[in-house]
Amino acid sequence: MARANQQQMARLEHLREEVLETMQHLPFVDGSALAVLECLPLGVLRRSATQRHGVTRWRRAADGVLVVETVDLHPHLLGEAWDAYAKFVLYHEFIHALGWRSHDIDFRGLEALWPDASARDFGPSFTHAMRKNRATWMWACSTCDQRFPRQRRGNGRYMCRVCRTPLLDVPVHDAQ
Ligand SMILES: [Zn+2]
Ligand SMILES: [Zn+2]
Repeated sequence: MARANQQQMARLEHLREEVLETMQHLPFVDGSALAVLECLPLGVLRRSATQRHGVTRWRRAADGVLVVETVDLHPHLLGEAWDAYAKFVLYHEFIHALGWRSHDIDFRGLEALWPDASARDFGPSFTHAMRKNRATWMWACSTCDQRFPRQRRGNGRYMCRVCRTPLLDVPVHDAQ
């Protein structure tokens, strides 16, 4: 977990406002749920996170009850380019925060209520963009031209998942 700066906090608050505006029209969200979500602490993940785009952190209170400590979003989600996906990720975390802790059928049903149905499809491209941000190598296929950003060399040990050709290591500054 990293501490959000002032600009990130402002952006997080703005996203919260917009997500709650949508959520208040959803059947499972009542006044007390909104009140909980309105005062949840928000924060940012470490910049280096690639797989996790958002997280809801819990802690055990003195009486043994699990309470939400913070909801963190990936800092890159706070850029305007990812606006639609950022709202979807925050919505996803807010469902967790309301008590659906695992990704079970009930959870997925609630998640599917988000009106912007295309937003979730940005997940893989966000992961790809984050990996590319950190990558020092592209594993490149000489047959079908697929490229896979990675932090380490593959040394010929990996095959293209599309055509099974062994992948070549290309330094990132040459790979764009
Ligand atoms: Zn989740
Ligand atoms: Zn290939």
